Amino acid sequence: MKKKQTISGTRNPCSKCDAMCCRYVAVQIDTPTTPTDFEDIRWYVSHRKVWVFMDDGDWYVCLDTPCKFLSRDHRCKIYEARPRICRKYTTRTCEFNGSGRPFDQKFTHPRQIQDYADAYFRRRRAKVRARYRRLRAR
Ligand code: SF4
Ligand code: SF4
Repeated sequence: MKKKQTISGTRNPCSKCDAMCCRYVAVQIDTPTTPTDFEDIRWYVSHRKVWVFMDDGDWYVCLDTPCKFLSRDHRCKIYEARPRICRKYTTRTCEFNGSGRPFDQKFTHPRQIQDYADAYFRRRRAKVRARYRRLRAR
């Protein structure tokens, strides 16, 4: 989030950034485990500027849309009254000063979700078959 305007440019860790963190909304969703779950995610990513990512096993839906309170010069117009999520955000690990947007896997198209789901259910079926074989071998 943008630092107070009173912080000088050189000390302000946001001074070289165009407010990357104020340009999207990311909301955690349930980890998909059923065909219906994957169908729902396929629906999310069918929309423009909506994508889904996975980070450390957690899943998120991301809406690429800037905050209404972001000014043209990349500052927060309601800095003193900004929401809790903005207050908790830290420049130390943000996408600009840290290691970029956090994701292990990114899905921007329904086809990618379909491919992931196919592989997921293939792995699951293989595990069930292997367990069944182990049980029969006892
Ligand atoms: S992404 Fe980081 S550097 Fe950029 S405005 Fe947000 S907190 Fe500041
Ligand atoms: S309220 Fe301010 S700090 Fe929070 S996302 Fe909007 S512009 Fe950024």
